[in-house]
This record gives sequence, C-alpha cells and structure tokens, in this order.
Amino acid sequence: MNKKLIVFNWKSNPHSAVAAIKLARAVEKAISDKNASKIVVAPPFTFLEDVGKVIKKAKLGSQDAFWKDIGPYTGEISWHQEKHLKVKYVIIGHSERRKFLGETDEMINKKVLATLKAGLKIILCIGEDLSIRRRGKKTVEKFIKTQLEKDLKGLSKVKGQMSNIIVAYEPIWAIGTGHSDTPQDAVEMISFIRSILNLKFKIQKSKLLYGGSVSGKNIKNFVGYKEIDGFLVGHASLKSKEVEKIVKMSSK
Ligand code: PEP
Repeated sequence: MNKKLIVFNWKSNPHSAVAAIKLARAVEKAISDKNASKIVVAPPFTFLEDVGKVIKKAKLGSQDAFWKDIGPYTGEISWHQEKHLKVKYVIIGHSERRKFLGETDEMINKKVLATLKAGLKIILCIGEDLSIRRRGKKTVEKFIKTQLEKDLKGLSKVKGQMSNIIVAYEPIWAIGTGHSDTPQDAVEMISFIRSILNLKFKIQKSKLLYGGSVSGKNIKNFVGYKEIDGFLVGHASLKSKEVEKIVKMSSK
C-alpha cells in the first residue's frame, strides 16, 4: 500500500512556544519506523521557526500564505517568508478561514496560484456545509465542482507544478464535531473529486485527503481505502497519545 500523508493542523494552538516544541517532539517520537506515513506538522505562524528546528522526520507546513511576495500588507505572511522558514506544504482555503475571515474563492485562487508558482506544495481544503449535505449527493457534487473550478482557475499559468496539488475533502459539518463522515461517503466524494481533477484540470497524480474528526480511534475505519491518500487532522493532533495512534494506525 502507498504511504499515507498525514497533515497535523494545529490551528491556533498551543498557547506557547514551549508547548509547541513539546508537541513537535512527540510527533517526531511517534515516527519511529522507516515505513511510517509521511507526516506534515502545520503550527501557527508564530511557532513555525521553533517547530522547524525540532522536526527532522516530519515536514513543516503552514496554515495559510498570502499571495503577494513582501510589502505593505499588514498582518499577512507570504509564501516568500514561509519558504525562508523551510515550509514545504501550505494549507489553503480551510473552512475556518472561509467562515471567520471571509476568505472567498477568488482570494483562495490567488493564494493557490502564487504558492504553486513559488514551488510549494498546497493542500487545498474544500467541502460542503450541513445545509448542502442535507439536499443530497447531486447538490454536494455540484457545490464541490464549483469550488474546485473557482479555487483552481488559471492553473495553466503554473504548468509543471501539478504534482504539488493536494486536495483535502473536508465536509464542514464533520470538522471539530467528533462526527466524521462515513468512510464509504468520503471515498465516494474523493473519487468524484479525483474525476474532476483528471477530466477538467488534467491532473493525474494528485493526492486526495479526508479531513473531519479523524482520531486515533476511528482512523482504522478509513485507512484501508486505497482511494484515500491520507488525512488532515485537527484537534486530535494536539494530543501526543492520539498522534502516536494516528501515525501507527496509518503506517500499517
Ligand atoms: C481540520 O482542521 O482540518 C480538521 C479536520 O479538524 P478536526 O480534525 O478537528 O475535525
């Protein structure tokens, strides 16, 4: 079986650099085996440098990147600055940013293009909310297709970077709720996303992740599906015992 890719999204946690370093050490310890899954740790910007110094086996990820290089963009952190900190993966379009910061598909598209152009790998997050889900599978598919078309618009400008595109299917109603999607439904949506990437964008080798309340307990239900290339994990990534279980279960 191909190695799974696990992305630990710490969101706006933990509260201090000392705690971040401790957690990063726990991740490194969990990756004991050479057959372990590929692990990415995405701490908040403030801890990127500290975590980057601690991790050796895991790769460094960030939770966002502004589309401009450097300049008068108060409060923003650019892909340029992240590259200096040895960031390799950038999460873009997380539903929490879409919801709390009003990120639009147009903004996300600019971030996607700039970050790919910079040679970084992107993890584009897409997914429907509960009201859309309740309207049935066809409505969900239509929503996801539109999101992909808007977020990945103009990819011909960054030819040669297609293998750096990773898409995380994250149904919003499953994020942080403790209620994950069923593996069967997640596989169905991931297969749908793969077909859009292949047919519409001519992307053949993209990795597709599932995200939404994945834990050390339920990951065993998902891990056997070859359609799922890995997982984006939020709250469970903040507990070292959970991290240990997730790395172990996904590396089998
Ligand atoms: C996420 O933040 O992308 C996520 C999937 O969170 P959680 O695992 O907490 O649902």
